[in-house]
Amino acid sequence: MGARILVIEDNRASNDLVCYLLQAFGHRVFSARDGTEGIRIASRERPDLIVMDLQMGRMGGMETADLLAGDPELAGIPRVAVTAYAMAGDRERVLEGPFDGYISKPIDPASFVGLVEAHLPVELRSGPAMP
Ligand code: MN
Repeated sequence: MGARILVIEDNRASNDLVCYLLQAFGHRVFSARDGTEGIRIASRERPDLIVMDLQMGRMGGMETADLLAGDPELAGIPRVAVTAYAMAGDRERVLEGPFDGYISKPIDPASFVGLVEAHLPVELRSGPAMP
């Protein structure tokens, strides 16, 4: 049936791609270009899931996720990092921090939405769960 998903990504092309893919699978998407805007939209819309870039100019994804995790009203929303960090140990560092999941760039259009939906309740996914 689709979920309400907030995308926080400062790169326009990446933001557009992520929003496009999620919408193509029936999700309603809210888009923010930095962490401050992302937190404002999260407070207003209470999305089912937040997908966010780590490397952002004004306020990075780590800091943004820390603020979300520290807000009792927003802490329960799953947070998934999408990032080009690809060195050994980065995945562990992200998951030990304020994130529930980690998807590495470059984004693979064939698998991306399934990886995101793994963090949604089954009834909000677009189709059968990914293996
Ligand atoms: Mn970025």
